Amino acid sequence: MARVGMAFVLFLFSLAIACQPSISETAESMLSSDKYLEAYDVPIGYENAEGLFAKHDTTYYACFDNWMYYFDTKTQRSGKLCGKVECTHEDRDCNAYLGDIIVGSFQIYDQKIYWLGELLYRMDLDGENREEYRVVDDMGELDPRCYLHRGSIYMCGIEHNVKGANVTYTVRILRYSIENAEAEPETVLEQECQYIPKYICRFYRDKLYVLIDARLGMELSEGYKRDLYEYDIVHKELKNVWSSQDQAHTRSVSINNEGLEILNLSTDQYTMFTDPELACTLWKSQYHFADQSMTEMERYETEPGYTDQSMIENWVITSQIDVIVQEENRVDVKTKYRIYDQNWDLSGTGEYEGLASMIGEDSMGLLILTDIGSPCKALYRIPYDNMDTVEILIQHGE
Ligand SMILES: [Zn+2]
Repeated sequence: MARVGMAFVLFLFSLAIACQPSISETAESMLSSDKYLEAYDVPIGYENAEGLFAKHDTTYYACFDNWMYYFDTKTQRSGKLCGKVECTHEDRDCNAYLGDIIVGSFQIYDQKIYWLGELLYRMDLDGENREEYRVVDDMGELDPRCYLHRGSIYMCGIEHNVKGANVTYTVRILRYSIENAEAEPETVLEQECQYIPKYICRFYRDKLYVLIDARLGMELSEGYKRDLYEYDIVHKELKNVWSSQDQAHTRSVSINNEGLEILNLSTDQYTMFTDPELACTLWKSQYHFADQSMTEMERYETEPGYTDQSMIENWVITSQIDVIVQEENRVDVKTKYRIYDQNWDLSGTGEYEGLASMIGEDSMGLLILTDIGSPCKALYRIPYDNMDTVEILIQHGE
């Protein structure tokens, strides 16, 4: 009886081996899966943070001045991501300090935090076991970002090329294999532009979408040529699926199951500076995955002075930014905000410190993250039950 039992166990064991797909089969089915793969997809929901915020289980992660912070939504506690008992969390030996090079972006992939400094690093979700993970190409100094998606590393950046007196800028995306570290990277996209372009990458299942805004002239009012590319990660094919050449400029791009939702701003009114008289024209457009069409929604004129905007699905925030120079050249930024729902109905108004963008939402409210250049650095939440108030979830530099 015992021998039969052992044979049966061995039989089950061999069956289990036979049923297990090989590694390459797993990779192939992962690449083309039409489901959201939580551990292996670029997360959806916080894409407008552009790699400076992440959520894993009940924990939020945010990076300010190269320090990694956490906020535990269960305990409501926040702090630097370091569990070393003897650490003061103030010097470079702290687990939460990510290095001297400005962190381009970070992402949680397969239970680890990856970030782009002078190379690609990774560590555990609690800040332990830091590793120099991979050397990736130096993409030039402008706007580097890194994404890990379904077995590949995508390195994105803007390279600036000098030929005599002529300077041009190339948006370049390279794809590296995670499994095979020795393999040469493949070029996904290259587009040369006359002026510094803006690019936005969004991953959805087996596709990468890249929207590039290329200025047509020295003045922003001359408008933009915009191109949307779709890259099929299985067949490695790049297609231009939409183009326009007009006064429209991209402010944010959100992703949902139907397509991309784009917030557009008319550039004939665009200003880099605070202008209390200026009203801006905003509108959303939707790119549909199913038929590759773009539809525009109605235009909305903001209150005068609200010259900064960001969007997540269903919500838009417009901001009036006041820069106040204090003693000893200290600069304070106070931002007044107005929140609109998807019908452009005003849902709340209030004020917070710093330059910030709306990056997502949770069950309690809208999440607002300060930008890299902001003098005050924090993660805020504007609660749904009172959108005239602001909670501080994480604050850097206190
Ligand atoms: Zn520490």
